[in-house]
Amino acid sequence: MSFISELKSTIGDEKVLTDPAELYVYGADWSPRTSDEIMPPEVVVQPKTTRDVQRTVKVAHKHEVPVTAGGGLTGMLGGAVAMYGGIYIDSTTMNSIIEIDPKNQTVRVQAGATLQKVNDEVNLYGLWLPHQPESKWVATVGAAIACDNDSTFGVRYGKILNCLLSAQVVTGTGEVLELGHRKAHFTSSGYKLKDLLAGSEGTLGVITEATLKLEPIPEARTVDMLVFHRMGSAVDYLSRLLKAGLCIEAAHINCKRRLKFYTHAYSRKHGRDAEIPQWAEALLAIAFAGDERFVDIQRSYALKIAEEEFEAEAVQEREIVDSWWASKYTLDFEPFKQKWPDSQRTKKFGAADPGVPVGRLEEFYHKFVEVAEKHGLEIIGMNAYLEHPNSIGFSLSCAVFVDYRNAEEIGRFREFHDELSKLAIAFEGTMSTFMSDTHQKAPYMEAEHGPSLAYMREIKRLFDPKGILNPGKKFIREGR
Ligand SMILES: Cc1cc2nc3c(=O)[nH]c(=O)nc-3n(C[C@H](O)[C@H](O)[C@H](O)COP(=O)(O)OP(=O)(O)OC[C@H]3O[C@@H](n4cnc5c(N)ncnc54)[C@H](O)[C@@H]3O)c2cc1C
Repeated sequence: MSFISELKSTIGDEKVLTDPAELYVYGADWSPRTSDEIMPPEVVVQPKTTRDVQRTVKVAHKHEVPVTAGGGLTGMLGGAVAMYGGIYIDSTTMNSIIEIDPKNQTVRVQAGATLQKVNDEVNLYGLWLPHQPESKWVATVGAAIACDNDSTFGVRYGKILNCLLSAQVVTGTGEVLELGHRKAHFTSSGYKLKDLLAGSEGTLGVITEATLKLEPIPEARTVDMLVFHRMGSAVDYLSRLLKAGLCIEAAHINCKRRLKFYTHAYSRKHGRDAEIPQWAEALLAIAFAGDERFVDIQRSYALKIAEEEFEAEAVQEREIVDSWWASKYTLDFEPFKQKWPDSQRTKKFGAADPGVPVGRLEEFYHKFVEVAEKHGLEIIGMNAYLEHPNSIGFSLSCAVFVDYRNAEEIGRFREFHDELSKLAIAFEGTMSTFMSDTHQKAPYMEAEHGPSLAYMREIKRLFDPKGILNPGKKFIREGR
């Protein structure tokens, strides 16, 4: 029996898609690629339960067929694209909220639930999941873990691992494991296998459920934007605020060019771009949240330090700040319409996500501009998100426009991406901070990880002895 027939008989015809027209939509994610590079899987499974996933992986294991799990397909580097065909597991059909436990401030969800859906449900209990990427309306819990995503509120709550208490995963042999510490917030018992899932890109197992830690919804929030002469001053300012003991909820340093990208709604309305002073190199968007009175005290103190010690100016035109915040946090996921410039119809967002030491951010920013110009790419700009709770640790998004119809330009984008990855390692940093590696960074894994890469391969073998889980991602596929 072929693996497709066996899948149909094991998990049910209605959960298995084989029509080429239906498969086509699973052949690409948000990564820049031409229509020639769309790679539909051979079959799509739409599971409802962990048992369905387990049965699917067991069939794949028996027939040695690749299995790629995917969510909302908003990944920006082709992580969910089934490069070697086989089975695509569409986790979005597993999207239930299994348990909300208000007393212990936890939620148990199926991995295909979107981050927005989780919040819609837990908000009713006065709680929220502070892990909030911009793509939360479409991006799923499983993928947030699998990509080790960053969040608008990282400086207070950290990355997804800080919210992840426990996760259920189906390994490459079809075994179901629960990794983590149930509802306890941390553990010093055993090895932290749960943490291996962060950034695993479905190469160790298919995540089917997760228990996440929730937080009380703050009563009030203020958002401001400050303009700095140099990017380095914005970094020093944030360091000063943390030293002062302020509790920042969100902090994002944007280079000046990036403002235009985020304030598209403003430009549309006024027929002109949002303006900031000529002398400015960087804009810092900063939020405080908590009880209203305390928030005001923190905000006033932060603004005072900015003015007195850093010659920074607060953006006075409220609409610019609101437009930025809406684009980042509150708007529905309609990037074509609401956020991104009209040129998005032909040219789209492409980004690299390196991480560099905090003292070298400004230097790296200038390198990013140099490399993008060298490759003839139109620059959108750089963002540095603080992603480590109460400390300075950046996740960078170095973004350019890429014409999706132009294979040569896509090639230049890939060269740009590779060059920034190598530069980040040379800067004593990392090539990835929120998109993970995919196939794009696989050639540089040795440079980043050295001999420990061999240990990673062994771990992969333990979870996936036949190498069927999302092959080609992280590691160049052996023999290919
Ligand atoms: C407009 C826009 C804004 C964005 N904003 C942010 C942001 O603020 N922060 C950020 O970090 N990223 C951001 N991203 C990138 C992207 O949204 C995230 O990487 C997100 O996690 C992808 O979620 P998804 O459900 O679409 O996953 P997919 O693209 O479907 O999959 C991504 C990866 O996760 C794996 N995967 C998916 N589900 C599972 C599972 N159940 N088990 C195992 N592996 C799985 C896939 O194999 C793949 O490797 C943005 C993207 C867009 C287009």
